[in-house]
Amino acid sequence: MKLQSVMLTTSLFLVGMGMANAQQQEAKHEDTEFYTPVPKVVTPAITPTAAPSDAIVLFDGKNLDQWVMVENKSEPAKWKVKNGVFTVDKKTGNIETKQSFNNYQLHLEWLIPANITGEGQARGNSGLFLASLGKGDLGYELQILDSYENKTYTNGMAASIYKQTTPLFNAAKKPGEWQTYDVIWTAPTFNADSSVKTPAKVTLLFNGILVQNNFQLKGPTQYVGQPSYQKAHGSSPIKLQSHGDKSEPISFRNIWIREL
Ligand code: MG
Repeated sequence: MKLQSVMLTTSLFLVGMGMANAQQQEAKHEDTEFYTPVPKVVTPAITPTAAPSDAIVLFDGKNLDQWVMVENKSEPAKWKVKNGVFTVDKKTGNIETKQSFNNYQLHLEWLIPANITGEGQARGNSGLFLASLGKGDLGYELQILDSYENKTYTNGMAASIYKQTTPLFNAAKKPGEWQTYDVIWTAPTFNADSSVKTPAKVTLLFNGILVQNNFQLKGPTQYVGQPSYQKAHGSSPIKLQSHGDKSEPISFRNIWIREL
């Protein structure tokens, strides 16, 4: 390189440096401060389990008006409401919400009766289907089961995503004590050809303890074989399972949801 061109290159380099410095000097603290969008104000409830101001209440202790029978959606949910709680009716089948949801935060309380009998999967089995995909047990099941000193496969215990992942902790309370699920659900998204674009994700607090931390689901629950995403779907109802085991039926109360 000749001396002249070296000088030219050097001076161009210095000019470039000067511009970069000028840009650096012009940067202001306001540049990285955002004022919109303003987050919506939500009044937290005094007790952590009561519905906050913007929640859709799915069960408030009075009736099952928000629920229908899964096998025949024109039929109102037939499970019995008594003393502010409702109990699984094993003769009638699963129930699900009238309304469909996409991404949400959900709170639900459930009770294994103190006199529960049976063992393994046949001891207080129910389930919260985070998205119901139709009749029977189609959908993504968050297991409900007595997991207090009750041995079964760990990816089938309470707070497991059934047959997909074991909870990080066993936070189960004794039969006869109310338990809470607080779920954050991110629905899967699909490409135009129906292949999965982004898998479903779930975070779960079981009795206030983080037990699922943004777990990515492999697909809808599969009792036999490996789960996978086979079919695209949009927003879906939330379903509660009437399991066929012979143990005493479990109860629910205080269910609310916040759409995200
Ligand atoms: Mg179940």
